[in-house]
Parts: sequence; structure tokens; C-alpha cells
Amino acid sequence: MNLLDQNPMIIEFVGDSLKVLSHSLLAVSPNEGCALLVGNSKQTICLKQENSLEIHMIWPCCNVWEPDTFTLIESPRKLNSDHEEKLSKQNRFLIDPREQLLAQHWARKHNLKILGSAHSHPKGASIPSSVDCLWSFTAGLMVIVDKMGEVRAWWMESDQNFHPKEVRILTPKVRT
Ligand SMILES: [Zn+2]
Repeated sequence: MNLLDQNPMIIEFVGDSLKVLSHSLLAVSPNEGCALLVGNSKQTICLKQENSLEIHMIWPCCNVWEPDTFTLIESPRKLNSDHEEKLSKQNRFLIDPREQLLAQHWARKHNLKILGSAHSHPKGASIPSSVDCLWSFTAGLMVIVDKMGEVRAWWMESDQNFHPKEVRILTPKVRT
């Protein structure tokens, strides 16, 4: 079974990837920044089997969200008009699908995978917003950085009624 389909118990940022992540996402503040997380999934067998994800590399992306994104990419889960009016790059992000393809190509070449995405909440907490939940169509990892640089990781499901589950982040390994 593909480990990426399972809810990971732990994620680990290798080297300075955690620092790179919060710096690059907050650089575009007050807009939301976004990035793809590249690394490996593995299963550690201690007392019980645990899925863990190791982030090796951050792939910063441009936030290409535009006001007409919602008409271009028609969501079957329509947001109410209230949401639509208030949305801007300051509270919404979109990663260019072409950028995802490029990152995927690069990752495969280096024997790595895209493990999920990250974005910043320059005005809010590092927990998934209602918009994040509405736009979650597949199960996966979502990492969120708040304006103070606090990073939290969440496991999202495509089911709207599923509450995002927090994934523990291990302190980055320092390699000397
Ligand atoms: Zn968000």
C-alpha cells in the first residue's frame, strides 16, 4: 500500500528545511505564500508501526490565485458568496499546476516524492481555515505557517466533515 495514502503519525523536517519553509512563505507577506514539500515516506517499526514523512526539500511556489480562479476552476463545493467576496491572495493561495508537474518531475529524478503542500496564514493561526477544508479534494498533508513563523502540520481528507488531524512535527535534525 502506498504510504502516502495513509495518515502519517509524524513528520520530520531534515536539515534547515523548516527554516527555509517559514522564511520563504513569510517573504511574500501580507499575501499567503505557498510551497510544495518534497521528501520520502517511511514506516518505522518500534512498538507499533508508524508512518512518518521526511521533508528533505522545500519547493517554493508563486501564489497564482486570482479573483477569477473560482470561475476557471469550478468547485463542485461552491463557496457561499460571502466567502467569494472576501477572498484575496491575503487569505487564499493557489499553486500553479505546471509548477506541481515540474516539482514532481524533479522529485522523481531524485528518488523523492511530493508529500504535500504548505502555505502561510499571515493573518491567522496555523490551523486549516474553512476555505482550506472546502478545497481539500484528496487526502494529504497540509503544513501551515502563521505570521510568527509557527509551523503546524495537518492531515486533510477529501471528506468535508472530517476534522483535520494534527500531525506531530519532530524537531529538525541538525546534520554536522
Ligand atoms: Zn489556509
